[in-house]
Amino acid sequence: MIIDSHAHLYGPRLTPGAWINAFVDYGCAISSRPPEFVRGRVEETWFDECGDLLISDMDEAGIDKAVVIAIDFALYAGVDDEISLEKRYEIYHQAVQKYSDRLILYGGIDPRRPHSAKFVERAVNEWGLRGFKLWCTGVNPGDRACYRVYEKCAELNLPVVVHTGQEIAPASSEPTRPIYVDQPSNDFPEVTFVLAHAGMAWWEEAASLAWHHPNVYVDTAYWQSKYLQEPEDFPRKLRALFSLAGSGKVFFGSDWPALRTVTKVNHANWVEIIQALPGDETSGVDFTREEIDLFLGGAAQQALGID
Ligand SMILES: [Zn+2]
Repeated sequence: MIIDSHAHLYGPRLTPGAWINAFVDYGCAISSRPPEFVRGRVEETWFDECGDLLISDMDEAGIDKAVVIAIDFALYAGVDDEISLEKRYEIYHQAVQKYSDRLILYGGIDPRRPHSAKFVERAVNEWGLRGFKLWCTGVNPGDRACYRVYEKCAELNLPVVVHTGQEIAPASSEPTRPIYVDQPSNDFPEVTFVLAHAGMAWWEEAASLAWHHPNVYVDTAYWQSKYLQEPEDFPRKLRALFSLAGSGKVFFGSDWPALRTVTKVNHANWVEIIQALPGDETSGVDFTREEIDLFLGGAAQQALGID
């Protein structure tokens, strides 16, 4: 089974304008394209509130299941929701219900919201939430507010995905350092923590945490960017991530729809790049077929309880 352990659904009702604006600024900086072009591409090729586009890309790539991660942007955007969190969860729920054999809903609720822990429980019961996502811009994973939510996740047996790795401006990157999950993972040994993006630039720190904590894992969402930046070096980096994090500790992820229009690393090609690693003698790096199978699905299936 191939599992994309980290994908999103974006759209005008799910994603606040403030985040889209920040992303457009970032997209312009890295692509040297004008803002109208980047904004148009985001709206035309990313927005998919009903999950149809995601499923079509998964079919093309041969991906069986995807974890869809809802993000609570409200406090980041500096406004309370134009559309309530409840309404947004209903939209996610409808999409996931439509493809209930393919999509699994994880969700972010900003822990600083009043009653955030209670909301997690409600999301489990009403909208089928199966994991919690901490998008830690402005809130440190060791904060007491987060601990209240972790307690609820321990009670409900929910995995906790924590964003790690530099954020785009104006969000602060400091709280996204993998090391801040060190203490929470000690304090909640019964909770499975996944360091999303494997810490990006702090990937050795993330891998080291996975190695030292039985309940800490990493995912490779947005690592397509590492491939794009240094394609020749990518097999060595992934090999090091596997070796430093430990067997069965690394989950395949995409951060879909990010980079879906970059042909070299779209969903189908991202899977193909990974599938081609065992036996690729030109890279000078060894992967076994078993390791790649574990990475593409087996590890997440087991650790996250996906059937
Ligand atoms: Zn993501």
